[in-house]
Amino acid sequence: MSETTPNPNAGRIVNCDRCAVRCRIAATSNDQARLLKHAKDRGFCPNCAITAWLRRFIESPHMKAALACNPSGEKPPECFRLPHLQEQIGRVLAAGQADLPAEALDWDEIIANWDLPFPGQIEPLFP
Ligand SMILES: [Zn+2]
Repeated sequence: MSETTPNPNAGRIVNCDRCAVRCRIAATSNDQARLLKHAKDRGFCPNCAITAWLRRFIESPHMKAALACNPSGEKPPECFRLPHLQEQIGRVLAAGQADLPAEALDWDEIIANWDLPFPGQIEPLFP
């Protein structure tokens, strides 16, 4: 069972820091989340949050190698239409006890907005 922390800003409406979509601040955040924890006052919508994570992840040497030998040839972001990749990402979110459920992701929107700039620098996960 996960421990959660109540959020004093719960219910407040804010705009995503990247795509400006309106979001409602979540009531709680999971203290054990190892990735993609709910924002407390501002941050990214679910689609931009996973995009930031994916963009950091695909810069890792492991992912670059995996993408280089992808027999179907799809590269980011189009490869994220592949159901098996979406399932794997869902498993990573579940294993990391993320606040973000895979069902909240809109892959068409993620792909359409892939090249939107992020405020600030996106650091690689494995520098
Ligand atoms: Zn967004």
